[in-house]
Amino acid sequence: MILRKKLMAGNWKMNRTSTDAVALAQEIVVAIGKQAEVDVVVCPPFTALESVGKALDGSTVKLGAQNMHSEVSGAFTGEISAPMLRAFFATHVILGHSERRTYFGESDEFINKKVIAALKHQLRPIFCVGETLAEREAGATLKVVQTQTERGLEGVSKELATSVVIAYEPVWAIGTGMVATSEQAQEVHAFIRSLLTKLFGEHVAQKVRILYGGSMKSANAAELLGQKDIDGGLIGGASLEARSFVELVKAATVAK
Ligand code: PEP
Repeated sequence: MILRKKLMAGNWKMNRTSTDAVALAQEIVVAIGKQAEVDVVVCPPFTALESVGKALDGSTVKLGAQNMHSEVSGAFTGEISAPMLRAFFATHVILGHSERRTYFGESDEFINKKVIAALKHQLRPIFCVGETLAEREAGATLKVVQTQTERGLEGVSKELATSVVIAYEPVWAIGTGMVATSEQAQEVHAFIRSLLTKLFGEHVAQKVRILYGGSMKSANAAELLGQKDIDGGLIGGASLEARSFVELVKAATVAK
């Protein structure tokens, strides 16, 4: 049996100036910056990547971005590329977040290009999939997740697939306080792992980490993180306070 190290990632979204982000990063580093049982990633806004990267220096906390363009450079006003993120020593990048899909019209095809580009530049994509409430109520959850997963990972080699982190984020649970039950989440996570087995084989599928995202907090973390196929969390709201984020990292440390 392959043991997957849990990964807890904080998505700070469009919050915190560079100065405020550094203060938050410093608090996190003081509390958990030396532990190595769980992988921890923080994803500040682009404007704070450099300063937060410096604040994380010497700690075990890694730096992630919240998005990137698939091209390396060029006439893409307002965008930022994988080499630019690498220059700040980012190791991870969130791709295909439902807020990008919904508010910025990102398609599966575009997200797929970004996944390929991230891997080409040694960035680990935290690739997000998940259904809306209407899709869940229509019984389409697994179909939606299957389409997003298969399209988003098209052309990814077996060798690089283990660098991908998938985040299952039911859209109806993001920022709403509504959380998927551990059974609902585990069902989808197991389904994603079965898709990965079909795409990349059993060995690779067992290595890929699948995070849960959507109103994770200390009250529900232990149960979610205790599920067989839940390998960590992508955390929005609760990652904006060092105390609540650190509690979640600690919950991941003890989860079996
Ligand atoms: C997210 O945006 O990825 C997320 C999971 O947010 P929240 O934890 O606030 O639901």
